[in-house]
Amino acid sequence: MSFEQPQVPVTDDAIQTTELLKRRWLSEKAFEIELSRPAPFEFSAGQTIRFIHDGFERYYSLISGPDDPTLSLCVRFVEKGTFSVVLATAEPGTQFQFTGPHGYFTFKPSRRQAIFVATGTGIAPFVSIAGSGVGGFMLLHGVSYMEDLYYQDQFRSIFDKYVPCISNTPAKDLQPHGFFHGRVTDYIARNLSAAQYDFYLCGRQEMIRDVMHLVDERFPGSFIYTEVFF
Ligand SMILES: Cc1cc2nc3c(=O)[nH]c(=O)nc-3n(C[C@H](O)[C@H](O)[C@H](O)COP(=O)(O)OP(=O)(O)OC[C@H]3O[C@@H](n4cnc5c(N)ncnc54)[C@H](O)[C@@H]3O)c2cc1C
Repeated sequence: MSFEQPQVPVTDDAIQTTELLKRRWLSEKAFEIELSRPAPFEFSAGQTIRFIHDGFERYYSLISGPDDPTLSLCVRFVEKGTFSVVLATAEPGTQFQFTGPHGYFTFKPSRRQAIFVATGTGIAPFVSIAGSGVGGFMLLHGVSYMEDLYYQDQFRSIFDKYVPCISNTPAKDLQPHGFFHGRVTDYIARNLSAAQYDFYLCGRQEMIRDVMHLVDERFPGSFIYTEVFF
C-alpha cells in the first residue's frame, strides 16, 4: 500500500472576501451554500478553502467546478458547532474571509481503477471532481439514512458504479432501491475483487482508518489518498 497524506495546507495565503448568496437545505443535517467568487481565484476540483472568522479557522471542500461563476460548499450542520452554525444561519449578503485554495485531494490519473469513498458530507470533493469531467469510476457513499444521499441523481449519470451504503436503515427498506445495507468497509470487503486500486477516502477518520486497514490486508500495491473532515 502506498499512502499519501494530502493535507498539507496553504498554497496561497492571501485573504479573500466572499459574500453569501444562497443557502439550500439538503436534509435536516446538511445544507449547501453558494458564495460569490472573488477574482482572481483559481482552484482544482477537490481542493478546499479555509474560513477565518472571529479568531478561528475552518476548512471546507469546494463542490463547485473550477469554471463555475460562484463557489459552493456542502456543510454538515453540527448542532453544537461554532462555524457550521454561523454558515447555517447567516443572512444572504453576509461577508466572510477565507484563504485558499488549499490541499491536494485532487484526481490523479493512473492505470489503476479509482475507488472514491465518502461518508456523509465527505461526498463534497467528489461533487467537484465529478463536475470537472472525471467519470467512469466507482463511488461508495456511506450514510446512516437514505435522506443523507445528497447528489445521487448527479452521480448516477456520471459514475460507472455509484453505490449508496446505508447502515442505519432496515435492509428490507433498501432492497427496492438497490442500495447496499452496511458500511462502506463491508461493501469493499465483500465486493471488490483482488487488484490494485487508487482509493480516495474522504470523511470521518474512523472510516479512513478502517478502509486503510482493509486495503493493507486485501489490496496490496494500492494507493490511498485521504481527506479527513472530523
Ligand atoms: C480539509 C478539511 C475539509 C473539510 N471539508 C468539509 C466540508 O466540505 N463540509 C463539512 O461539513 N465539513 C468539512 N470539514 C469540517 C469543518 O472544517 C468543521 O470542522 C466542521 O464544520 C465543524 O466545525 P464547527 O466550527 O461547526 O464545529 P466545532 O466548534 O469545531 O465542533 C463542535 C463540536 O462538534 C464536534 N464536531 C465537529 N465536527 C463534527 C462533524 N463533522 N460531525 C459531528 N461532530 C462534529 C466537535 O468534536 C465538537 O465537539 C472539513 C475539515 C477539513 C480538515
